[in-house]
Amino acid sequence: MIKHVANFSAGPSTLPASVLEEARDELVDYRGTGMSLIEMSHRGPLYTEVHTETTSLAREVLGAPDDFEVLFIQGGATLQFSMVPMNLLGDGKAGGYVVSGSWAEKALADAQIYGNAYKAWDGAPDGFCGMPQSEDIEVQPGTRYLHVTSNETIGGVQMLEWPVVGVPLVADMSSDYMSRPIPWDLFDLVYGGAQKNLGPSGVTIVFVRRSVLETMNRDLGAYLRYDVHADGDSLYNTPPVFSIWMVGKVLKWLVAQGGVAAMEAAARTKSGILYDAIAASDDFYRSPVEPASRSLMNVVFRLPTEDLEAEFIAAATDAGFVGLKGHRSVGGCRASLYNAMPLDGVEALVGFMAEFKAERG
Ligand SMILES: *Cc1c(COP(=O)(O)O)cnc(C)c1O
Repeated sequence: MIKHVANFSAGPSTLPASVLEEARDELVDYRGTGMSLIEMSHRGPLYTEVHTETTSLAREVLGAPDDFEVLFIQGGATLQFSMVPMNLLGDGKAGGYVVSGSWAEKALADAQIYGNAYKAWDGAPDGFCGMPQSEDIEVQPGTRYLHVTSNETIGGVQMLEWPVVGVPLVADMSSDYMSRPIPWDLFDLVYGGAQKNLGPSGVTIVFVRRSVLETMNRDLGAYLRYDVHADGDSLYNTPPVFSIWMVGKVLKWLVAQGGVAAMEAAARTKSGILYDAIAASDDFYRSPVEPASRSLMNVVFRLPTEDLEAEFIAAATDAGFVGLKGHRSVGGCRASLYNAMPLDGVEALVGFMAEFKAERG
């Protein structure tokens, strides 16, 4: 299949063409059964195989140790903004939050409903243009976890070094999931929706340390409890079959590309080309993000005026580069370079940016 556009959307976002083709071919008649996988029982043998395989691939791709459970939960990363504090903040414990952008703000706001959650660092006064160093983060006594957003999808700000602050980290990795290794020792829980790097929307992958399950709050409705999902192997209720099936295909593709190490190297190359082009543009294009925190996944940039930005986005769309509009809350432009964005898509975009500058700069 030839893709006719280069899709730079922030999420849902581009997926490998080979995965989409394979899904198309298998959708109607799954393995000669005369029906689709999404029409079958989620407890039957064919779906069980998909479920088990996707679970082990997720674990394998990130090298998650045995003392972590892998869970598939619905509700997006957004539901995790509530589930994390509900499950983890019992006994007067507090949750510290690194407020690095819009997603972290949302996570904190929900946590404050369920427990004692506080700002351990606040990037708002500087316009969310960077991430903190460990020593900038103020962890209060009685803190159960420090919540971080590994990549702020809207601001284009990425936590390239993990904070080491003496309490376990909980991370929203929605927009850089499986594009970089995870040093598991630092974490009690990580989560991310699938629709940026891993597949369609509809499933959130949560890795949770087993010891968390032993001490967590159980005074919650069943679906909201991590231990219920873990005890049921993410089959407590009907799972999002289609999403999990697709994630399995994307993970197989990812392994065939060389795994997370290859994804990380590709992300450096792709984002490097784009940031270099921005830096070489005599301020026609400019990045609002501190160099040390520039995201390898979401490259945010501005043009001299909002009118030029609108023109740029329209001309790019006509040329087959879609999804370049910045988030409606901040404006500007944003190129999301997730795992499935090929290098030649980024090279072509950089070529287009140079042409646009030559005409309008
Ligand atoms: C997209 C995104 C979310 C929201 O995800 P949903 O799955 O739509 O709930 C949360 N955090 C980050 C960092 C994101 O990029």
